[in-house]
Amino acid sequence: MRKARIKIWTMTLALAALLSAGFPALADDMAGPEQTDTERTEIRVTELNASRMSRTEIRLDWRAVPEARGYTVMRMAPGNGKWELLDTVPASLFPVYADKLDTSEPRQYIYRVEALPADESRYVGAAGDTALISNILLCLDPGHYKGSSGVCEDDGLVYEECTFVLGVGLQVRDILRDRYGITCRMTRETKDIELFGHRNGESNVEERGLYADGCDLFVSLHTNANGTGTNKYPEWYQPMYVNKPMVILNTLACDDSLAVALANDVGTRLAHENYVLGIAENETFAAMEAGKVVEWFDWKDDDPSTAGLVCRRTGNRGDYYGVLRGSNAVGVPGLIIEHAYHTVVEMRRLANTGVLGPIYARIDAESIAAAYGFVDAGE
Ligand SMILES: [Zn+2]
Repeated sequence: MRKARIKIWTMTLALAALLSAGFPALADDMAGPEQTDTERTEIRVTELNASRMSRTEIRLDWRAVPEARGYTVMRMAPGNGKWELLDTVPASLFPVYADKLDTSEPRQYIYRVEALPADESRYVGAAGDTALISNILLCLDPGHYKGSSGVCEDDGLVYEECTFVLGVGLQVRDILRDRYGITCRMTRETKDIELFGHRNGESNVEERGLYADGCDLFVSLHTNANGTGTNKYPEWYQPMYVNKPMVILNTLACDDSLAVALANDVGTRLAHENYVLGIAENETFAAMEAGKVVEWFDWKDDDPSTAGLVCRRTGNRGDYYGVLRGSNAVGVPGLIIEHAYHTVVEMRRLANTGVLGPIYARIDAESIAAAYGFVDAGE
């Protein structure tokens, strides 16, 4: 809490100096209004948390202000600039407010709660914390876990997909939260994974997708690899023309126009960025239409003309990749983003400098937010 002293000084130091110098007439004229010495303490709401409960409910909670008789809850759509008064809430020990949205369409809001002083002669309400939130919940899956993906050392630096995509995933989570108000449920936030009581190797990859139950979208983050001998080059020393992004969709996502638009956007941006960064030979990327997503086959890896693309891959049990099968099973459109091929040495070298991860994270997060029509509301 900060004290604001509202003091009306009727005399300045200069005037005091004049008076002491003997100008009584001037002093009478300049005396001004009666001197007051009002001091009111500002009270404000802190620790405001906003949580996405469902597509149609945002929940707010904040630290109780003991001097408040109640609170006003306000919200604003970012970019709109106008605060809308939602409600007045009576004081309580653990104040909460549920904003029931009148739509399940993607919505992004900034909330503000102000304390109403019980004793207005002593306290004054001041602007408190704001909280940015949306009604979108993403399940974000940094692929693999420590030790479960290939390792390659170049110039004394080690590239490991599981470590690289964890770094990207944590940054995507932070950007989505801080700039767009999108909440992420993470399959892992450390080098290890533990889902449904199954840790690392005990866990089935399908469980990562099942963990998306109740989310709006499932996104699995990876970098790609070729099998030994692809293009007749050693596994870890593939030619640069192999490098391309691929976005693989589950069955639900193939027919979901938002998921397909996101896949097109993120893939196109990754292809462009890989080319600009000098780790890919071209920036061609084949976007797809919902309902017309093509199948991927491994032989395409051996075809130098294969560009980056949005695709699907079907196996005996539906979606070939377990994570996509899992998310499909819980009714969530899912996609795997293969940002680039780490079996291309130029990609690994750039990743190892620390430059590449933040670029991929920004592209992923911005594409996801754009798919929902959200604006950057970060400070
Ligand atoms: Zn992977």
